Amino acid sequence: MNLHEYQAKELFARYGLPVLPGQVAQTPEEARDVAASIGGTVVIKAQVLVGGRGKAGGVKLAHSPDEAYERAREILALTIKGLPVRKVLVAQAAEIARELYLSIALDRSRKLPLIMLSAEGGVDIEEVARTAPGKIVRRHIPLEGLRSYQARALFQPLLADGKLVQQAADILLRLWRVYQEGDCQLAEINPLAITPDGRVIALDAKVILDDNADFRHREWTTWRDSGDETPGARLAHEKGLSYVKLDGDIGCVVNGAGLAMATMDLVKHYGGEPANFLDIGGSSSPEKVTAALRIITSDARDGGGDSKVRAILFNIFGGITRCDDVANGIVQSLAETPLAVPLVIRLTGTNEEVARRILSEHGLQATTSMDDGVRTVIARAQEVGA
Ligand code: GDP
Ligand code: MN
Repeated sequence: MNLHEYQAKELFARYGLPVLPGQVAQTPEEARDVAASIGGTVVIKAQVLVGGRGKAGGVKLAHSPDEAYERAREILALTIKGLPVRKVLVAQAAEIARELYLSIALDRSRKLPLIMLSAEGGVDIEEVARTAPGKIVRRHIPLEGLRSYQARALFQPLLADGKLVQQAADILLRLWRVYQEGDCQLAEINPLAITPDGRVIALDAKVILDDNADFRHREWTTWRDSGDETPGARLAHEKGLSYVKLDGDIGCVVNGAGLAMATMDLVKHYGGEPANFLDIGGSSSPEKVTAALRIITSDARDGGGDSKVRAILFNIFGGITRCDDVANGIVQSLAETPLAVPLVIRLTGTNEEVARRILSEHGLQATTSMDDGVRTVIARAQEVGA
């Protein structure tokens, strides 16, 4: 789960990281009130879950409450990289002498957290990585953790001034705690700003939480901004199904992650493009099947983008999953909401015969061959597309 900047800053503040006071606003009026309560110059920042808001006009300074109203009005009217701006953060503005980049992210290949640090902050780190990779310092954090002398040594060459080094090292150690205790995949400060009067501040905050740890973080539910999820993703999350929306037009409902991957591979092999990854799990129930169809079709209808599901493939290998459960789910689901696109069903394994009978009683049929199922669904999708 990606946190908004204002949420990430709340988290940072709990760990004593230096962030400037601010509050989120949903209307220009609210922004004006927040600006008045903060006083002085404020910065108005679009709260959308993408980077590069600055360049897109989503970060602006305001020198008075009335100006804050105007800037907030402009920013709340923006759509940045496809995301409408619904909220802004109004925060005390800082004066900036220098901008650094600092992050801790999971390096999956080394199975260790990785600190990345650069004197070239403020801009996209991907851009720095492309144009001046030598300007990014990388250090893995070993299993025994991060010591304060190590943190100081990292900043020493960049900052020279002992007081700045001390502050920056303290920030890194706190960020490490945020990362570790908070179960983050990424904790990023860009820019880590140095003010003309020698303070080091986290001016931006980006946090990605590891969803696998949400069972031990009850507070996360209050952060989940369902308005930012596609309808399908929200439903999948509610129902506990693994779902990833993709750009293709072949909807895939599969039991088991491995079979789901294999199905997507085969769809691509025969020249199709999967619209999603969707694993309905090992032990399935009619309810899950109904939810799966709703997930795929709701994203096909109003999930944004230009992708459209043209045909749906069920690929079920009955082991613990019973084919008759799936068949009942399909029949129930179609009775409630008829599908607007062709449905191709492949099933084999436990209770296959019962499943086939249930389906045929409702005018549906299923193949046993995965190869056949995939080819058929691609052909049907092409008919629909033509
Ligand atoms: P991003 O573009 O989405 O990463 O948004 P940031 O929060 O990083 O803001 C982009 C840029 O706006 C920063 O690199 C700063 O140059 C500038 N900025 C952000 N906050 C302030 C502030 O408080 N004062 C000043 N002067 N500039 C700011
Ligand atoms: Mn930034």
